[in-house]
Amino acid sequence: MGVVNSSTEAVGGAQARIAERPSIIVRCPADGRVVGQVPDMGAEEVAAAAESLRREQVEWEAIGFAGRRRWLRLFRDWLLDNQDRLQHLVREETGKSWGDLSMGEVAVAVDVLNYYADHGEAFLRSRSPHPHSAAMLTKKLVVERRPYPLVGVVTPWNAQIANAMLDIPAALMAGCAVLSKPSEETPLTWVEVVCGWRDEIGAPKVLGCVTGAGATGAAVVDNVDMIQFTGSTATGRKIAARAGERLISTSLELGGKDATIVCADADLERAVGAVVWGAMHNAGQICVSVERVYVEAPIHEEFVSRVVELVSQLRVGMDRPDEFATDYGAMLTATQLDIVETHVEDARDRGATIKTGGRRASEGSFYEPTVLTEVDHTMACMREETFGPTLPIMKVDSIDEAVRLANDSPYGLSGSVWTRNERKGRAIARRLNVGSVNVNNVLTNVFQLPVPMGGWGDSGLGSRNGPEGILRYTRPQSVISERVALKSELYWYPRTPGRAKTMARLTRVLGARDWSRRLAR
Ligand code: NAD
Repeated sequence: MGVVNSSTEAVGGAQARIAERPSIIVRCPADGRVVGQVPDMGAEEVAAAAESLRREQVEWEAIGFAGRRRWLRLFRDWLLDNQDRLQHLVREETGKSWGDLSMGEVAVAVDVLNYYADHGEAFLRSRSPHPHSAAMLTKKLVVERRPYPLVGVVTPWNAQIANAMLDIPAALMAGCAVLSKPSEETPLTWVEVVCGWRDEIGAPKVLGCVTGAGATGAAVVDNVDMIQFTGSTATGRKIAARAGERLISTSLELGGKDATIVCADADLERAVGAVVWGAMHNAGQICVSVERVYVEAPIHEEFVSRVVELVSQLRVGMDRPDEFATDYGAMLTATQLDIVETHVEDARDRGATIKTGGRRASEGSFYEPTVLTEVDHTMACMREETFGPTLPIMKVDSIDEAVRLANDSPYGLSGSVWTRNERKGRAIARRLNVGSVNVNNVLTNVFQLPVPMGGWGDSGLGSRNGPEGILRYTRPQSVISERVALKSELYWYPRTPGRAKTMARLTRVLGARDWSRRLAR
């Protein structure tokens, strides 16, 4: 595939003159090949894109849910029809293995689109609560959900389509326009997807895309009414601070250090298969990756030996399309590769045993699948997000100790528990300070669309999925109307002793919950 230039139409109205301005060169991390370039957009272009999207949003909200759903369903069909092309493009800019790629980012996008197309209308339906007291019986109460006109969606590099599509369908269904910004490391696929929406489907131009690095992302925050951010905790804090200054709403999906607890009564075969996949899939570059494991002493030895056996068989590299010759591919950035290497070296220096792996490849941006034992919480690999193909395993004497260690982290994204006793698994889950827990599985919480996915602590604010996943793009608007329009009301002018006395009596009669107070004079 040759060099890909981003489309001028993807920017939401601003005309791109690629040759005349700074651009970002995109390289395949596996071999350093240039695979494309996108413009590095400045604040003015972002503001122009935002303005154009705001204009389009008025009609988008007005066409109603059914009108919007029609376009979102065409979007789903376009994604399905272009799955192969998009998968090749993701491969080019990420160096992922064909096996990881075929596990489907488009599948996630399609699932989310269908979920909100099927349920979004019910989630957004206006409510008419009963008045809460006899004094208010003449009121008719209606709560409408009104969209934020323009939502910003800023995403990281680890899953170009899925990261955006976990959040964007709900915003569009809610009636918002969306200004997206993909990571500067991997912008090409998302630009193609936005072109698909605007040019190939011919949908209303309410989905825009700007490209650039952190400064472009900051300009997005400065121009939108609500910001949905997925990325690192450090950037999340900056965005939250700026959003606080601007008094705009945020939803932040940030980093994690997910713990897995393996109880002595776990089904070892299933636990080992899941934990290895959960740690190594996408070279560990998944926010909900298994980052650390606590295993009860009676099964620790056997668990480690089975894990090492499985991990030693994993093949690393960027294979050809349809080849399935490797299990995971490249580390997407040089910085990320350095972090993994630093964590493993730090653990080695502090006395950890490297059971297998423990080195970067001599060529390309690859890191060996690595299992560490004799680890403890003085080590970076147990405390900081690694985001790489490492599996540190710690022996514990009890579940209490495992829970204490799992909770010894500023992060609180998700985690998992392994036991043959499902009730016990749920009881352990309730003791973990994280937003989601998988009992006898890993990572699966992300794909359970009816339940919220959100991090606690340093892992985020707010949540995606379920009713909250669409309601967060709206503001409640309460409309109070009069069923019976009297000429005057008790608390209006004029003020008189008689009205004051009636007010005091009504307060007693309606407010008291015992007869002596109701009847007191
Ligand atoms: P990052 O925070 O460096 O960058 C994410 C995005 O923010 C990029 O598009 C970047 O250009 C933009 N950005 C940078 N500075 C900005 C600023 N000041 N204002 C606005 N935007 C700015 O993250 P990354 O390295 O690309 O991604 C890896 C991180 O993402 C990991 O910590 C991972 O755990 C996290 N992540 C979380 C989830 C989740 O759902 N919780 C999902 C995927 C990844």
